Amino acid sequence: MLVSWNATNACNLSCRHCYRDAGRKLAGELDTAEAVNLIDEIARVGFKILIFSGGEPLLRPDIYELVRYAASRGLRPVFGTNGTLITGGVAVKLKKAGAAAVGISLDSTNPSRHDRFRGTVGAWHAAVEGMKACRSAGLPFQVHTTVMEWNCREVEELTDLAVELGATAHHVFFLVPTGRAANLEEESLRAAQYEQLLSRLVKKQEEVPIEIKPTCAPQFMRIAFRMGKKPRYRKGCLAGTAYCLVTPEGDVQPCAYLNVRVGSIREVPFSRLWKENPVFLRLRSEEYGGRCGRCAYRRACGGCRARAYFYHGDYMAEEPWCLYEARAAGEGGP
Ligand code: SF4
Ligand code: SF4
Repeated sequence: MLVSWNATNACNLSCRHCYRDAGRKLAGELDTAEAVNLIDEIARVGFKILIFSGGEPLLRPDIYELVRYAASRGLRPVFGTNGTLITGGVAVKLKKAGAAAVGISLDSTNPSRHDRFRGTVGAWHAAVEGMKACRSAGLPFQVHTTVMEWNCREVEELTDLAVELGATAHHVFFLVPTGRAANLEEESLRAAQYEQLLSRLVKKQEEVPIEIKPTCAPQFMRIAFRMGKKPRYRKGCLAGTAYCLVTPEGDVQPCAYLNVRVGSIREVPFSRLWKENPVFLRLRSEEYGGRCGRCAYRRACGGCRARAYFYHGDYMAEEPWCLYEARAAGEGGP
C-alpha cells in the first residue's frame, strides 16, 4: 500500500501537463508538525511506502527531517521529482536521511524536446545529472516518462537509456487529463494507440533487465494476461484500494489524477478517512459501470477511475480508453 504526498506546490519547472498546476508554494501548506502527524497516521494504518512528490518536493526546507522521520516509522520513503535539484551533495543527504529510491522524470531522449515539455531550458541535462548523482551516492533511481502522442514512438529508446544510466526501473505514465494536462487532452493517446503501446511494452520487458511499469494504464493487466504473461502486480488501478494522495494543504483524494476530495486531515484523522470514507468504500466495491462492469478482468484491472471521472463525471463509470468488450471476446478472465 502506498500514499503519495504532494509535499509542496512550489516547483522550479513549468511542465505543460502538471496535474497540480504547480509553481508557487501555497499559503496553507502543511507545516512540519502537521506533516509528522500525517506520517504517524500513514504508518498506523499500515501503508508501507510514502512517496514525497509535489510540485518539487526537494524545495521543502524540512524535507530531510521528514524523510528521516518516515524511515524511523518503518515507512519506505521514495520520491517523485524532476531531478534537476539533485546534486551530488543532495543525493548523499537523501541517502543518509533514509530515502529508499527516487523517481526522476525524463520524457525524451532528445534534450530540447524534453525541455519544451517541461517548460525549462536545461531541464533534461539537469535531470540526467541528478540520475548520475543518485548512482554515485548508491541511491536507487528509476526513470519516469509521461507518454503522449509526441513521444510515444521513442518509449523503447527511453527504456534503453534508463538501462544505460543505471536506473532500476522505467515507469511509463499515461496522461490523465487533470490540472494543466486537461488542456492537452487532444494530444493524449487514443485508445488504439494506447493498446498498441501497452503490447509493445509487454514485449520490451522481455529484452531488458529492469522493470518496465505502465502507470495509470490498468488495462496493461488484461493485455499481459491475454499475451500469456503473468503481471507481477496485484491490480492495475489502486486508487482508493491500496493508494491515495494527500495534497500540500492536507486534502485527501483517491489518486493524484482523481480530483474527488474525500476530506481533510485537518478535520478528520487520515486513518479514519482511509478506513471509513464512502468514496473509498465505493471504489473498493469494484461495482463498475458499462464495459468495466461486464469485464472478466475487472478485478485485475479496474480501469482508470480518474479517466472515467474526467469523461463521464462518475469515477465508477467505464474506462473510456479501453476498447475491450469482454462478451464479444468470450473470455473468462484470469
Ligand atoms: S485512477 Fe487508477 S489508473 Fe487512474 S491514474 Fe489513478 S491510480 Fe492510476
Ligand atoms: S473493460 Fe474495464 S476492467 Fe476490462 S480491461 Fe477494459 S478497462 Fe479494464
